[in-house]
Amino acid sequence: MATKKELIQEFQKNPDRYWKVKLFDELGFKRRQCKNCGKFFWSLKDQDTCNDSTCRSYDFIGNPPTKKPLDIFQTWKKIQKFFEDNGHTALNRYPTVCRWYPLYFTIAGIVNFYRVDEEGNLDWEVPANPSILVQPCLRFNDIPNVGLNSKSFTCFGMIQQTSFFNGKQGYWKDKCIELDFNLLTKVFGIKPEEINFIEDAWIGYGAFGSSLEYHVQGIELGNAVFTEFAGNLENYREMKEKVIDMGAGWERFTWITQGTPTSYDAVFGPVLEKIKKACGIKYDKKFFLKYAKISGKVNLDEYADLKVVLEKIASQLGISGEELKKNIEPLQALYSIADHTRALVFAIADGGLPSNVAGGYNLRVILRRALSFIDKFNWNLKIEDVADWHINYLKKMFPELEERRKEIEEVLQAEINKYKNTKERVNRIIQSFSGRKLSEEELITLYDSEGVTPEQLGIEVESDFYSKVTERHMVEKKEEEKILLDVSDLPKTKILYYDDVLKFKAKVLKVSGNFVVLDQTAFYPTSGGQEHDTGHIAGLRVVDVFKLHSVIVHQLESCNLKEGQFVDCEVDKKRREILKRHHDAIHIISGAARKILGFHVHQHGAEKTEEKARIDITHFESLSEEEEEKIENLANKIVEKGLPIKKYVMKRGEAERKYGFGIYAGGYIPSKVLRIVEIPGFDVEACGGLHGNNTKDVGFIKILKTKRIADGLVRIEIKAGEVALEYMKEKEKILKEVAEKLGVKEEKVPEAVKKLFEDWKQKRKQLKKMGRKE
Ligand SMILES: [Zn+2]
Ligand SMILES: [Zn+2]
Repeated sequence: MATKKELIQEFQKNPDRYWKVKLFDELGFKRRQCKNCGKFFWSLKDQDTCNDSTCRSYDFIGNPPTKKPLDIFQTWKKIQKFFEDNGHTALNRYPTVCRWYPLYFTIAGIVNFYRVDEEGNLDWEVPANPSILVQPCLRFNDIPNVGLNSKSFTCFGMIQQTSFFNGKQGYWKDKCIELDFNLLTKVFGIKPEEINFIEDAWIGYGAFGSSLEYHVQGIELGNAVFTEFAGNLENYREMKEKVIDMGAGWERFTWITQGTPTSYDAVFGPVLEKIKKACGIKYDKKFFLKYAKISGKVNLDEYADLKVVLEKIASQLGISGEELKKNIEPLQALYSIADHTRALVFAIADGGLPSNVAGGYNLRVILRRALSFIDKFNWNLKIEDVADWHINYLKKMFPELEERRKEIEEVLQAEINKYKNTKERVNRIIQSFSGRKLSEEELITLYDSEGVTPEQLGIEVESDFYSKVTERHMVEKKEEEKILLDVSDLPKTKILYYDDVLKFKAKVLKVSGNFVVLDQTAFYPTSGGQEHDTGHIAGLRVVDVFKLHSVIVHQLESCNLKEGQFVDCEVDKKRREILKRHHDAIHIISGAARKILGFHVHQHGAEKTEEKARIDITHFESLSEEEEEKIENLANKIVEKGLPIKKYVMKRGEAERKYGFGIYAGGYIPSKVLRIVEIPGFDVEACGGLHGNNTKDVGFIKILKTKRIADGLVRIEIKAGEVALEYMKEKEKILKEVAEKLGVKEEKVPEAVKKLFEDWKQKRKQLKKMGRKE
């Protein structure tokens, strides 16, 4: 895979082909090379350095080049109207927690439209073309920069301008840059000679193209990516439908209109003032303004070591690096707390949960970072209050934050308590290592086992520390390829199991040992956590069924079949019925858990066997007996109600728009069409498993036990239908026996057992005392 640098070098062999647009010719923009950073850029003014923040200061601070100051809402209104007037459809935002593509979070507006096709390649899903929206994005690769360079956020709004161009529909480079130029000049009143278009390129997710960043007075406001090639530089093809992916900074547009010292001052509205007041933060405003103007040079992407950058800036300001650090630290803390809390508000509202699991790591890290700052400065500030202030400010544009206010507070509270608990252990840990420097390995283990972050121990770590920790948890057990059976020459197996067929005839296409492939089958292969069917093929026992790509393979106890032979087949009805009931029951439990525990409940894994079924859900603590009971009761109410279980195939985009991204309860699905399983008014999931037709048929659901299996994951084990009944009968029998042995009535058993236990404890105490005497 070529690097971005190599790609730019390749494009630079023919810059006009990749970067020159009509507007440049019409208005007289000339291509120049920056003598400072070496990048090529297009400008009207004859300038020898570019407008990037590494090459000039934030000259708009205190002197904005725009018509008038706007808050974030006014800024978006203006941008939205401009693009709507120019034929774009304004879309609602997507969740910040990404459910539809293998990413934890929505890291850019374009991710909204990313999907995976059946072959595992990048695919697209667009509700309108062209379109505009502002997408709150979460990124955690820039955490140390937040609060320092005046513009970095873990949560930021990306103005996403998208156009798919196939020669007939949509538009391409010329129109894109014309629109963006008009937005800057006509809507915001920026003078054309203030604008630089810097040549850049983009590569990722199996596609690439050139791009033009637009910079004004030291700040990059947007980047228009022209995605036109699929593949990599060594092997690519021109895409039939090219993509305009222009991402602009919502915060930056707002900032440049206000010219405040930092973008944080411009976008957090009343939240910063409230934090400042609560904490009594005092700082040298004049000094900070001087720093703010050149703070754009703090960029840890380009300088690996923060100390080096701060030294550099400090020398420009005529003070020492240490002095600078001391001066800006409280502000860095203030801005980071505001940013991190806003990120948590959006993430939790969208179903994210701080934990030790997958993306939950990042949320835990930023919350603990914010709390560490509060501790460090001994501020009287509550993160829950900061979250409330953010919601108050943002709710007119994002009413969903208001809807989830209570849940956001509950999740934050639980996580803050966990932090406090680990804090008590920190001192003990520091002592136990008595001054010795901890290895990275030890730090990772500490975080894993005790939840203690390096920051809590006062240790600075490499910026990739948390990705290393996350990686450890990413290694998922991959199912081993069961056999080396070559099915590449075989057609896709025709599937009969969605049609309630149990007896069928089929043609044997391939035999290899005890493995048999048929032209069609009603045997369900193990998938989506549901175990395979059993039964008979030509009287031979089927012991396993699995999928190899699009071919279904049956494993027989013994096999004497010949290729080309026609066979009678029968699926074991009893097992099938139990598996179906268990699958229905898991959907019902999943829906019930979300209703009882909250929106953050998401299926992390599930298994349905003949004996029992389980679902692992995201939740911040163990379930109480009361919660367990509530979930079981609600589930059984749904069973009694006799709601239909509807199954239908739908286009992916249509299903997403109709039901939201909750349909990806079991993970993203690489397919243009989805099989939707709906219990109307209660639960909707995209699911390829087998289900009954009515919740009544489930009979009865019994929760066997629940268990916290990891920080942020709770396992619920259940039995349903006759399997649950058998279980209850067994329990009843045991209860009867216990009652008889204790000589009490059944309802008196718990009391009797309690007394027995107390007696035993008493006796143990006495024994211990005696032991000590001797
Ligand atoms: Zn430059
Ligand atoms: Zn399912």
